[in-house]
Formats: sequence, C-alpha cells, structure tokens
Amino acid sequence: MSEKKADIALIGLAVMGQNIILNMNDHGYTVCAYNRTTDKVEQFLANEAKGTNVIGAKSIEEMVRVLKRPRRIMLLVKAGKPVDDFIDVLIPHLEKGDIIIDGGNSEYQDTNRRVKDLRAKGILFVGSGVSGGEEGARYGPSLMPGGNPDAWPHIKDIFQSIAAKVGPDPCCDWVGEDGSGHFVKMVHNGIEYGDMQLICEAYHLMKDGLGLDNQEMSDIFTEWNKTELDSFLIEITSNILKYKNQDGDYLVELIRDSAGQKGTGKWTAISALDYGMPLTLIGESVFARCLSSLKTERAVASQQLPGPSGVKFDGDKKEFVEHIRKALYASKIISYAQGFMLLNSAADIHKWKLNYGGIALMWRGGCIIRSAFLGNIKEAFDGNPELNNLLLDPFFKNAITDAQVSWRKVVTKAVDLGIPTPCFSTALAFYDGIRLNRLPANLIQAQRDYFGAHTYELESNPGVYVHTNWTGTG
Ligand code: NAP
Repeated sequence: MSEKKADIALIGLAVMGQNIILNMNDHGYTVCAYNRTTDKVEQFLANEAKGTNVIGAKSIEEMVRVLKRPRRIMLLVKAGKPVDDFIDVLIPHLEKGDIIIDGGNSEYQDTNRRVKDLRAKGILFVGSGVSGGEEGARYGPSLMPGGNPDAWPHIKDIFQSIAAKVGPDPCCDWVGEDGSGHFVKMVHNGIEYGDMQLICEAYHLMKDGLGLDNQEMSDIFTEWNKTELDSFLIEITSNILKYKNQDGDYLVELIRDSAGQKGTGKWTAISALDYGMPLTLIGESVFARCLSSLKTERAVASQQLPGPSGVKFDGDKKEFVEHIRKALYASKIISYAQGFMLLNSAADIHKWKLNYGGIALMWRGGCIIRSAFLGNIKEAFDGNPELNNLLLDPFFKNAITDAQVSWRKVVTKAVDLGIPTPCFSTALAFYDGIRLNRLPANLIQAQRDYFGAHTYELESNPGVYVHTNWTGTG
C-alpha cells in the first residue's frame, strides 16, 4: 500500500502549532506533524489530533518523505535561533522550489536575511505574521505572509482557507517581499499596545475622575461597542470590568498594576526611531507599560509628590463619558495613521509594494485589534491606494473634526485632575503638530547652528545651507 501523502508539514507542537494543524485538518488538508521533542508527536496524535487525518513523523527524513511536491513546511517554534537551527537541519533534505514558512514572531530583519539566503539555495522562504492567539490559530487567525513571492501561489489556498473571514473575504493576503509580513505583524502588535493603553486611559478617567463603579464602566464599554469603537478589545474590556471572583470582588481591581510585555511594541517603537517616523502613540504606550512596572518607585513617590489638590470633577458625567468616547476614537485614528506612516516609510526604503487596503483587511478579523474601524481604513485605501496620510481621507478628516472639541476637553480635564493620559495627549499633540504649516523647529536649527555650526536653510532659499557667526555682528 502506498504511503499517505501530506499537503504540508508543521514543525512545533506547542499551542500555536497544534491549533494551526487542527485548523488545516478541518479545511481538508492532510498535515504531517513534527516536533523537536518527538514524544510530543505521539502525544498529539493520541490526544488532540485523535480521529483526524493528521499524520506524524518521528524524524525530519520521514516528514520530508511524506510531503507532496513542492514541499511546504511551516515552522511554529520559538523565534530566533530555533528557526535558523531548523532551517539548517531542513536544507539538506529539500529541493529547489520547496517552501519553508516561518509563522513565529520573528524579527523582520531576520526574515529579510532568511529570504535572501534561501533564495540563493533555490528554497522559497516565507515569513508570516500570525495573529489571534490560540483561539485564532484554531478557528481562524489573521495571517500576514511575505517573503519570496514565488511561494504564494503554492500556499495561497491553504492560508486563505484557514484564515478568519469577514463576510466572504479572508483575513489573509500576500503582504509583499522579504520580511514585510513580519514587519506588518510587528506594526500590528505596536498598534495593539496603543489600543490597549487608550482603553486603560478611558477606564482611569472614568474610575478616578468620574468615580464610576465597575458595573457602570462595563455597561459603558458595552454601549461603546455598538458605536465606531466596535472591536474585540472594547468587548473584552466590558467583560473584564464586571467579572467577579468567588468572594464577589471585581477581579480586575485585585490585579497588580504592573504591565508585562514581550517586546513587539518596543520593536515597533525602535523601528519608528530608525525610520524617523513619529509613532508617538505607540511609543507612549510602551513607556506607559514601563512606568507601570516601576511599582516600588511609584509607591515611594506616591507618598511624597503632590498632585492638584482639591480638584474634583463637578460636571455632567454622562456628557463627559461621551467626550471620553470621542477622545478615544480620535486618538485611535491618530495611532493607525501613524502605523500606516511607518509601513509607508519602510516600504519606500525596502522597495516593498505593500497593499495597504489588504493589510487593513488582514487586521479586520481574526486578530486582537480586529474592529469595524479597520473596514473604514480599507475603504480609505480602496478609494485612494496612494493615500499616505490617513488623516487626509475624507471619512477620517470628518471623524477627527467631529471629535476635536471633546478630545481637547478630555485632555484638559485630565491635566486638571492629575490623571495621566499619555496616549490621548500625545495623539492630540501629534494632530496639532501635523496640521501646522510652521513649527518652532526654526529655533532648533538656529541653536544647532549657534553651538555647532550645523548650518540652516532660509525659507526664501531652500536647499542652500548657510552658517552664521551668532556672536559676531549681523
Ligand atoms: P513557543 O512556546 O513559542 O515555542 C515552543 C515550540 O518551539 C516547541 O515546539 C518547542 O519544541 C520549540 N522550540 C523551542 N526551543 C527550540 C529550539 N532551541 N530548537 C528547536 N525547537 C525549539 O510556542 P507557541 O506559543 O506555540 O508559539 C510559536 C510561535 O508563534 C512563537 O514564535 C510565538 O512567538 C508565535 N506566536 C505565538 C502566539 C501565542 O498566542 N502563543 C501568537 C502569535 C504568534 P520542544 O517541544 O521540543 O521544546
């Protein structure tokens, strides 16, 4: 009897790998499962994969032998060295035109390198962002594949069939060349940091500024989820706020206020600095987590540093809640506008042909930042694929204009009350910066020229750099 052939192999049987395999199996693909610790293959076949068409391999040789050509091998292992180690192990067993896909959270520069190195060996390498956590992996993730474009026709059907769907549209399309898939995933994660921090600032203002209780705040988030803010993160926040433990206490209020991070928000902020793009909101959201983790320092300072004394909110709470909603919406628009600016800039430098509407659609479902709002972004790029500032799209221009008064009221009130709103505030500062034709950077140029002879341009003579001896006579 001939050996059963597999459509694809998946290496890495931790939570993500197992769930992607079961998802592929549900969609009619025969998957060969392999793991460094091979005992896990048998455990998986005997438990989670029991009764499915999944087959297992006890060695790389066996795995490669059962694969249809061109071979498709997806890695879902820890990012970094394990990916390079597996590539090295695989290469002697592969032929020209075979495909390796890395679905882990790899750094995009590593993917740039791997695509190039493997192209020289005739192997097609793809780095794919995978978002949506274990639930997404099992029932429909957002997938962001990029790399060697010759691989796409061979993996498109599998990827698009297992991806989340919004209506008929899969939340997966080809992103672009080299490490662009992982770059897009990184920006997605940075945006996720921003979205989460914005929600935290709204919660902080409602709790400490307006004195609302958890049930009231949960109800507000439920209502907000029926508006432009309709999104997964708003929905889960409503559920989290009202969740009580066995003692009848709101669990969220018992959790230590020190946020963890795995690094992808930081990578986005570092890239923003590298590319010279003002991703102020994502940067602030990373720093807000850093500040939260200085718990001991904050405990000491809280005993010594005064805030505004005797200032209380004495306005209409319902009205102010609506101002907060609008401030959150406007700030979110700024964050996404900044994220797309970074994508634009990286695409220019690396010569990636990114499909921005397609990226919005990939994030529209399946992932943590999924929201109705991404449908509006997709429409903006569909209407103008060359759009390089989302704020100039008529829909978003109107939205920001509509929210502006509320946004300013919220930031002003937060300052009065001494409640930190770093992301609401930086979003507004960015808005006020980008809409000004003239910033005070003329003075910076004069200072740089004064102390370092760095030269400056006159508005009347652009492109010509001159120096002044500022301490001499004019
Ligand atoms: P994980 O804990 O990141 O990695 C475990 C897997 O990596 C196991 O198969 C393990 O094999 C293998 N591995 C670890 N070190 C290795 C090494 N030195 N050499 C070879 N294999 C090694 O698993 P995960 O949470 O399922 O995530 C897989 C990838 O997806 C990661 O890159 C992760 O960042 C990314 N991701 C995760 C999520 C999520 O929600 N968890 C979401 C999106 C993306 P052994 O069993 O032999 O140890």
